[in-house]
This record gives sequence, structure tokens and C-alpha cells, in this order.
Amino acid sequence: NRRIVLASRPHGAPTANNFRLEQSPLPTPAAGQVLLRTTHLSLDPYMRGRMSDAPSYAAPVAVGEVMVGGTVARVEASQHADYKTGDLVLAYSGWQDYALSNGDGLTKLDANMGQPSYALGLLGMPGFTAYMGLLDIGQPKAGETVVVAAASGAVGSVVGQIAKLKGCRVIGIAGGADKCRYVVEELGFDACIDHRSADFPQQLAAACAKGIDVYFENVGGAVFDAVLPLLNTGARVPVCGLIAHYNASSLPPGPDRLSLLMGTLLKKRIRMQGFIIFDDYGHRYPEFFKDMSAWIAAGKMKYREDIVDGLENAPQAFIGLLEGKNFGKLVVRVGEA
Ligand code: NDP
Repeated sequence: NRRIVLASRPHGAPTANNFRLEQSPLPTPAAGQVLLRTTHLSLDPYMRGRMSDAPSYAAPVAVGEVMVGGTVARVEASQHADYKTGDLVLAYSGWQDYALSNGDGLTKLDANMGQPSYALGLLGMPGFTAYMGLLDIGQPKAGETVVVAAASGAVGSVVGQIAKLKGCRVIGIAGGADKCRYVVEELGFDACIDHRSADFPQQLAAACAKGIDVYFENVGGAVFDAVLPLLNTGARVPVCGLIAHYNASSLPPGPDRLSLLMGTLLKKRIRMQGFIIFDDYGHRYPEFFKDMSAWIAAGKMKYREDIVDGLENAPQAFIGLLEGKNFGKLVVRVGEA
């Protein structure tokens, strides 16, 4: 049984030395427990927060403990009345081959589900995040302009496609020509701007001739700097993530622009609201699942996964996620489905 533990806390960007691959004996389920064998591990940006002991909405992983993470797993052995060997479950069993569970937090999946890893993305946490943040906080109306960054990624790709279904003009922001081409040609956004271009702010302004009504914030940093002057009166800004800052250990240098931000919010009556998906919206998952299942069945959702083979490759893949190296939802294939 291999497991990847947090070896030390990162300062700045995580490195391979912050992780350690360990072997441990295969656990045996006691009464009321199941033994889970991981098939797929989801890698998500929030894990950077768990590696750090700065105050957050969730407790950090302790040094020496297994890295946390959402997984799809098979029940290998069961001493639990509700589960039998071979059941497929959505779990939170972390970066390891095997784990014990008493059933808390497990969700049964269709054992013959075509693509079980979708439970970690389009039909799972990231898809749900896109749906609630956009529809509940963003409140997009037909004809409005919606902008989303990390547009080819797990959350952003779904935000833009739902906004298109609602009749909006949708502008994506992504890193590099390949991602931008995919966002327009495959996902059907109206345009996609490369945030690494030297004239990115000008290109974004040109693409948003009527300003921005909804900005779905995934990134922060230089992307938000370019967005701020384009926000319309009455704009909504769901604050979902700030990945450009996750490796920062202090505030960036430069002039204090807080009054620019506050002044813009005031004069333009902009509503900015943060959210933590399961804490704030857990009770609405069935609503999302119903809508998303219907959209998938009707062929209205495109979805791309970036699958990495082997648990041992999880640290490098995760380090890459924070640098934009992934192209689509990042998932590690840990074992046979
Ligand atoms: P993605 O699949 O979008 O992968 C992360 C992407 O972020 C990278 O591929 C890269 O895309 C982009 N990125 C990284 N650094 C920068 C940077 N400095 N400037 C601009 N873009 C950058 O990840 P997810 O879809 O899983 O997550 C997207 C966001 O949503 C994250 O901020 C995450 O924390 C947040 N989130 C929040 C939740 C909540 O409950 N509030 C729940 C789930 C996710 P590119 O190459 O295109 O720049």
C-alpha cells in the first residue's frame, strides 16, 4: 500500500521535497468498515491551502500525514452492511492506494459507470462549483457579457458553457494559444484571450466592447487588474479562487490599490461574493446533478480530462497544476477501474 504524505510545508511554490512516498501494510477492515482501493485521485488547487498552516476554512494536513483528496474507489473488502465488494464509490481517501472507511462521506456510484472519473469533475466538485457560483451569485442574464479565467480548466470550462446555455456572450481567458483555441473551437466560447500576451489588457478590453457584467473569479493577480476597469455598473463577481496567489507568502510589492478597488465597487455598485462550494451549497447538489446530467445527455457539455498515470506522479502533476501545465481536469489514474 503506497501513500504520499506531506513531508514538509512549502515556502512559495511546492517542490518534490514537500512530498514523500511511503509504503504501509495493507489495512484490514474491522466491523463497520470497508477497505477502499483507489482507482482515480482528483488533484485540485485547494490542496495548496491544505499544505500550509495559515488560517483557512479547513484544517491543514499535518506533516507526516497522507495528502487529502477526492477519489473514486472500489470496495475491496467490506464489513459494512451498506457496501459490498466491487461497489464503486466517491470518497475522500487521499493520495494512497488503499484506505479504510466507516462509510462517512462515501457516495455510491453506478458500478458500471462509463467514466467514473467524471464524478471528480464535470459531475462532481468542480462542475458543482461552476454551476452554483455562476447561477446563484453571478445571476447571468441573456445578452450579458460573462468573463471567466482558467477557461480550459475544470471549473472555468463549465462556467463558460453554462453561461452560453443561458444566452450570454462569453469571453474566456487562458494560458497559451492551444488552450485558447480549444476554448473557442471546442467549448464554443465567443472569444478567448491569452493572459500571457504582452497586450493582454488591451485584447480583453477589445473583446468586451460592452464591458463585463459577470466576472467569475478563478485567478486574481494580473488577470483581475485587467478586468477591474471593464466591470459594468451592477456587475456581479463570484469569487471562487485566486490561484495566482496560492504560492505567495506575503503581499506583492507595489502601490496600494485598495482604494481603487473599493472606489470601483462603490461607484459601480458591484457585488463581489466569495463562496466555498460544499459549505455554502452542499444541500443543492441534487439540483446541480439533475441539470448537469440532462445537459450531458443532450450533448451540451464538452469536457476534457488531463489524466496522469501512477500515484507516484501525483506530486509533479500537482506542482504543474499551479503553473498552468494541466490542460483540462487533472486526475491521477491510481489503479484499475
Ligand atoms: P484548473 O483545471 O482551472 O487548473 C488551474 C489553472 O489555473 C491552470 O491550468 C492555469 O490555467 C490557471 N492558472 C494558474 N496560475 C495562474 C496565474 N498566475 N494566472 C492565471 N491563471 C493561472 O483548476 P480548477 O478548475 O480545479 O480550479 C479553478 C479555480 O477554482 C481555482 O482557483 C480553485 O481554487 C477554485 N475552486 C474553488 C472552489 C470553491 O469552493 N470556492 C471549488 C473548486 C475550485 P491557464 O494555463 O489557462 O492560465
